[in-house]
Amino acid sequence: MTTLHLPPDAAPAAPDDLSVWPASAARASGGGLSVAGVALTEIAERFGTPAYVLDEREIRERCRRYRRAFPDADVLYAAKAFLCRAVVRWIDEEGLGLDVCSAGELELAVTAGFPPERITLHGNAKSPHDLDAALRLGVGRVVIDSASEIARLAAAIGPRGTQRVMVRITPGIAAGAHEKIRTGTDDQKFGLSLTDGSAQHAIARILAQPQLELTGPHCHLGSQITSVKPYLAAVRRMVGLIARVRDTHGVVLPELDMGGGHGVAYRPGEAALDLGALADRMRTELAGSCAAARLPVPRLTVEPGRAVVGPAGVALYRVLAVKRTDERVFVAVDGGMSDNPRPALYGVRYAPRLIGRRSSAPPGRVTVVGRHCEAGDVLAADVDLPADVRAGDLLGVPVAGAYHLSMASGYNLVGRPPVVAVADAHARLLVRRESLDDVRARDVGL
Ligand SMILES: *Cc1c(COP(=O)(O)O)cnc(C)c1O
Repeated sequence: MTTLHLPPDAAPAAPDDLSVWPASAARASGGGLSVAGVALTEIAERFGTPAYVLDEREIRERCRRYRRAFPDADVLYAAKAFLCRAVVRWIDEEGLGLDVCSAGELELAVTAGFPPERITLHGNAKSPHDLDAALRLGVGRVVIDSASEIARLAAAIGPRGTQRVMVRITPGIAAGAHEKIRTGTDDQKFGLSLTDGSAQHAIARILAQPQLELTGPHCHLGSQITSVKPYLAAVRRMVGLIARVRDTHGVVLPELDMGGGHGVAYRPGEAALDLGALADRMRTELAGSCAAARLPVPRLTVEPGRAVVGPAGVALYRVLAVKRTDERVFVAVDGGMSDNPRPALYGVRYAPRLIGRRSSAPPGRVTVVGRHCEAGDVLAADVDLPADVRAGDLLGVPVAGAYHLSMASGYNLVGRPPVVAVADAHARLLVRRESLDDVRARDVGL
């Protein structure tokens, strides 16, 4: 794998750059490309397009990298990045825990055999159904995210039971690639603020509830963070909070959950968070801050989502039309914002690639758009594809494993794409394409 170190908006990389593709991606003759030994053209023929491909080994290897980097910590995979039963099994087999934020994610995981004690339930607004499912199935931890949840949870547990809980803190740190995915700052919907004292107040109330066993603070700064520094600042603030809880209540909290948000490169040359540096520097910071506060080092938890599945996924689309206006060339494909809302939501940039046809045409600037009835349905603006790109061509979009299908919608009743796993030169269907029958089955009134 080649790794380029260019600033984010440097000159476009060579069209043949595979640095953000799964490690198993390999060029084949005639412009072909395979992942885990399976030709992407074959997947498109067998399963149709659009289709999502997941490289099983890439996901497993990324889990192992986390466990090697954080041998003394708990690593929880953030299910909201993408979840299906096969992913549940891979995460379980690789020894990670799971972070879920709804009864749906929780029940899918548990019914696929995931041990509930290794699951943490999140959510800024947990429904009664979410809390009931968590208590009924016996999740390891519930992360309290609002003052009103404390009494609700205690009442749901009843007089005799107990539940381990954490408390979500907004440490007052701005990090993350876009305002919509920054969650560490004050004045947004997640967590309880340190600055205005609501975190300290909630902790006092939790400690007063005999049913709730508070194990420690949780914070999640945001998503697509590529620098280690905000995590270190957050560790210092969390240790400061643990010290204050000891001083005020005489309780030493044994755990600290630092959330996820670890950034990946979507295009060649973009920065990714350095996992080894994050682990080393977080460990050092935690040990140093705890020594200074004369605290034992709490057990650390991290919660990567995107960094586990994002780079293992590839989206495949068929070009349906090419339209040249005075200003642009629009390349319209058979998917779009219903399977990948990220460009429209946060302006994310991708690097699509022509697959399965050798073109000798020079690169041309195009805008890849979807098929949905909205002008903002753009998948990749101002990217280079061979200038002779035409209807019938196959395009592959790398780094499509996270926050695509988990955010997919039913817009225009196009039907959500299938998910195909590839491993050892073999492709197998994990999730089938959504059909009109699926849509009709839910449409029960007239
Ligand atoms: C979304 C989320 C994560 C994972 O974020 P990534 O950016 O996918 O790593 C982890 N923890 C919590 C609480 C989250 O909300």
